[in-house]
Amino acid sequence: MNAAGAGKSSANGRLRTLWRFLYLSGVALAVSCWIQSDQLLAAQGARQFKAGAATGNITPWLGISLAGALHDRRAEHIHDELNARCLVLDDGATRLAIVVVDNTIVSQQLWREIKQLTHQRTGIPVEHMLMSATHTHSAPALVKANQMEPDQDYLRLLKVKIADGVQLAINHLAPARIGWGVGQVPEFVFNRRWKMKPGTIVHNPLGGFDQVVMHPPAGSPDLLEPAGPVDPDVSFVAVESLEGRPIALLANYSLHYVGVPAGHVSADYFGAFADHMERLLEVQRQDPPLVGILSNGTSGDVGWRNLRRTLPKADRYHWVDRIAAVVAAEVFRVHQTLEYQDWVSLDVINAELELGVRLPSPGEVERAQRIVDQTEYPLKISPGNRNQALKQYFALETTLLSQYPETLTRPLQVVRMGDLAILAIPNEVFAETGLELKQKSPFGSTFTISLAGGRSYLPPPRHHPLGGFETWRGEHSYLEVQAERKVVGKLLEMLEALKSRRSENALGN
Ligand SMILES: [Zn+2]
Repeated sequence: MNAAGAGKSSANGRLRTLWRFLYLSGVALAVSCWIQSDQLLAAQGARQFKAGAATGNITPWLGISLAGALHDRRAEHIHDELNARCLVLDDGATRLAIVVVDNTIVSQQLWREIKQLTHQRTGIPVEHMLMSATHTHSAPALVKANQMEPDQDYLRLLKVKIADGVQLAINHLAPARIGWGVGQVPEFVFNRRWKMKPGTIVHNPLGGFDQVVMHPPAGSPDLLEPAGPVDPDVSFVAVESLEGRPIALLANYSLHYVGVPAGHVSADYFGAFADHMERLLEVQRQDPPLVGILSNGTSGDVGWRNLRRTLPKADRYHWVDRIAAVVAAEVFRVHQTLEYQDWVSLDVINAELELGVRLPSPGEVERAQRIVDQTEYPLKISPGNRNQALKQYFALETTLLSQYPETLTRPLQVVRMGDLAILAIPNEVFAETGLELKQKSPFGSTFTISLAGGRSYLPPPRHHPLGGFETWRGEHSYLEVQAERKVVGKLLEMLEALKSRRSENALGN
């Protein structure tokens, strides 16, 4: 082989190598394009994240019984509309509905009926619905309690309007991105349970004396210290369309409620929050409208007033508006810095927890029955007759509770959106319970929505011997002393289960 031949042969070899290189590169490129387009298609097709929101108007009529007191009060004035605020999220595989209703308490049975109807109308599985009440104290009575009967016509309206609200949210579904954040509003959360100075006489209507008073008189010289902490967080989830149209803001703040004049129908500061969000985001008259939602966090022992001092006299709606404005402004501030994600996976886990009931003993029922027999109901409790009327009220509650079963089940739920977990508890939950759940959660962000299906305060065990309204055994507080520990234990288990399910899922985001 001469040099030239060798040279030619070597040139041919280089050419073949080049062709092979180009061919393989082409194949590699094609394969990589195919993979990329598959991912792209997946991202834009099956894995498209969607959100839609809507409200169902649930304003009642005048004359209806209002919840929120220990006796019947009728609606005399409608100050602002009540709504069921509905958010539907869809990650391409899982569809969730979150509904927050302007009401004080929705019973577990009523939630079941509402979810069933919503499922029939929308196809969303009942287990994929998180429904809770705001705890406004100026809305119709929905349960037979506190010497009141619910209005059957209103119950029908409520069910249909919530199912409608979820369907409208589905009608509004649009490609969307999602983000979440946390702000701080410490100005309006104060523990409302106060330990009183030794020597202060505090009657317990079920007998004996308490160490703690709910809502003692502001500025009282007998105040010692608050009986528990508060949670100043205002957490929120925001969804907006791919063009940047705000779809919904689901916020969560741990304040029980503010309160409006007796006889008024009002969504309290929960409704005013939604108005302020519209104003701050400059989306009034947007089509479809932004749905601002303020859910109740863990606020069973939290009021808005610092009871160390008295406040200057002001109209109740002044405070409703002021607190809503401050909470909304903080959400808006954090919202400006939010990093949205184009897609996150959604998941939900449900459980039923069996809990004991603090049943009265036969002797207690007998004593209570004697008081009931000598009392004319309904009672009106006022500062003038407080001690005596409370004793008679709780005697009736004792006889009602004696009909309860020894145990009952309560639903618990955790919804996951990416690295955010939202817990739903069917009780009036104390701030310290929510703080513990946030601290022990394995997720990046966590918050708790309370009042999600049923009633009964859920005081941590240490609060039972201290006393106070939240612990007095009655239809508002009847679960076993250890109930709160059991609820926290179960929720932490559920969080861990969701966490490991997420790591097993290759697509998990
Ligand atoms: Zn309450």
